[in-house]
Amino acid sequence: MIPLDVFGSESLAADLLEQVRWRDGVECPRCRSDRTVKNGSYGAFQRYLCKNCDRTFNDKTGTIFAHSKVALRKWLFSIYAFLRFNTSLRQLQREIGVTYKTMHRRVERFTRALDAPQLDLVGPVEIDEVYVSAGLKGRERDQPSRSRGLSTRGRGSYEGDKPPVFTIVDRGTGQRYVVPAKSADESTVRLLLAGHEEESLTVYTDGFRAYDPLEDDDEFHREYVVHGDGEYADGDVHVNTCESHASLARRWLSPHRGVSKDKLTQYLRAFQLRSELFRKPGREALKHAVEATL
Ligand SMILES: [Zn+2]
Repeated sequence: MIPLDVFGSESLAADLLEQVRWRDGVECPRCRSDRTVKNGSYGAFQRYLCKNCDRTFNDKTGTIFAHSKVALRKWLFSIYAFLRFNTSLRQLQREIGVTYKTMHRRVERFTRALDAPQLDLVGPVEIDEVYVSAGLKGRERDQPSRSRGLSTRGRGSYEGDKPPVFTIVDRGTGQRYVVPAKSADESTVRLLLAGHEEESLTVYTDGFRAYDPLEDDDEFHREYVVHGDGEYADGDVHVNTCESHASLARRWLSPHRGVSKDKLTQYLRAFQLRSELFRKPGREALKHAVEATL
């Protein structure tokens, strides 16, 4: 259920932020002291006085929502629609009546605040790579437009505006990850698979040579299918779940046509967050999204 009440009332939006932000108690954002007292209000937001450093702050201070003339309820709506419905920034900008620049800046702030996913792998794990068309949007205005979107044909490179993106599916935990990389080589693969507890992690891959060194390593048990030979699955050995997850990522990126490669990480982190809150009810999903930025 969409939390429409929050999007319609600034004080309910403020309540939601307050609940998420101070879930472990109120703390001064400047000196981290918990010796705080309520001290009037700042619009719809509670204001506090820190008895340690003697400065005031409010619910928004130090968050991505601070210093905005636009109501919090509108930003919460934007984040919700962005994550839930894959709404483009152009559309959002029209919906809430701000300039594209304002919308872009605020969503950028949101995506930048998201942490890299922690890969604690249990296994068996599928790993696969795709290449994304992502150039330097806005800095190469005179260049002819390139084809956009994810492509699996051919090997790309970060320098050549086709950065590799790895999809990893942990069949042990059910977690799925999408992680962009500078290059699709052995060291990147090792880095991605490093976080595992078991002595030997079972890894399913295709025949791409960057995965070959895993075979000589006791830490991994690698099995693979060779797509070039018309082989797509051999019992449990396949990367089909990776491929379907990659196609979801492709759809996620498509309304944001031409995400530049330096922003790709941020957009894919937002996609990761979207997957995490996919099954949560509206209000919980919104709280989770806000919490992820704190
Ligand atoms: Zn303080």
